[in-house]
Amino acid sequence: MNYQAILNEIYEELQPELMRGRVADYIPALAEVEKGQFAMTVTLDDGQVFSVGESSKQFSIQSISKVFTFTLALDIYSRELYKRVGVEPSGNPFNSLVQLEYENGIPRNPFINAGAITITDTLISHYKDEYKTLEVIMHFVRQISGNPKLSFDSAVAKSEMEHGDRNLALARLMKSFGNFENDVINTVMTYFKHCAITMNTEELSRSMLFLAFGGRDPISKKQFITPSQAKRINAVMLTCGHYDASGEFAFHVGLPAKSGVGGGIAAIVPGKMSIAVWSPALNKYGNSHAGTLALEKFTTKTGLSIF
Ligand code: GLU
Repeated sequence: MNYQAILNEIYEELQPELMRGRVADYIPALAEVEKGQFAMTVTLDDGQVFSVGESSKQFSIQSISKVFTFTLALDIYSRELYKRVGVEPSGNPFNSLVQLEYENGIPRNPFINAGAITITDTLISHYKDEYKTLEVIMHFVRQISGNPKLSFDSAVAKSEMEHGDRNLALARLMKSFGNFENDVINTVMTYFKHCAITMNTEELSRSMLFLAFGGRDPISKKQFITPSQAKRINAVMLTCGHYDASGEFAFHVGLPAKSGVGGGIAAIVPGKMSIAVWSPALNKYGNSHAGTLALEKFTTKTGLSIF
């Protein structure tokens, strides 16, 4: 299949859509990102990379980082992890407090904010402090992305902390139910830092490749997690990867994927490839407007989906 031609075609067809939607503005540092930008990358197991648009431009991966922290925590805790966080779609906005209250402080899944903050908390408990935890997270994303210099944007993390009342409230609510082990401020700050990791679509696409191949990066040949763990992470991406539009995304695109409010979406085609797309203007659910359409076009044109 001529992936380059397909990506070029998608880019062309999406031109009228690129200005539609709104850039996330609840994190002021993210509101400065110009809309109208677009990039898409496909990475195959033999290392071939196909890109279109601004594929070397870094953006804030935000919630996509939750896939990487979930991977690390699952590897450490295995099934024990599910005592602290579930695997059901929430059907609620990503930062909802209401559900957490009536479900006794156990977040529905690792990809809503409460769940991801819990995951960060479990990592801090394991590694004993937040610095070591961040170091481990950064080491892991550098390994899977193939970029040893990958970093996070401290201005974005700081901006998020300055407006982080809701995430702090989620953490405190969990603490009140006994589902929180570490200092709330330090934990939430560590969560904001990993959300502020910056990548371009080439790095992001490469980072997801191990999930398309049973936990093993086919390029570096490193086995990061077991095939069974990869299966579970992919299942949670399929059912919970797009906030309360996860059903719609599965319906239109048909791939396990995770989005972030920075406008990135990372997807995998099991046994075949990983795909990353970025376009900062979001639809009403907080998912990249053009990014979602691009993936829908990709699976339609190539016939590649898990269904
Ligand atoms: N750091 C963001 C927050 O907690 C992540 C949001 C997202 O990408 O969904 O609000």
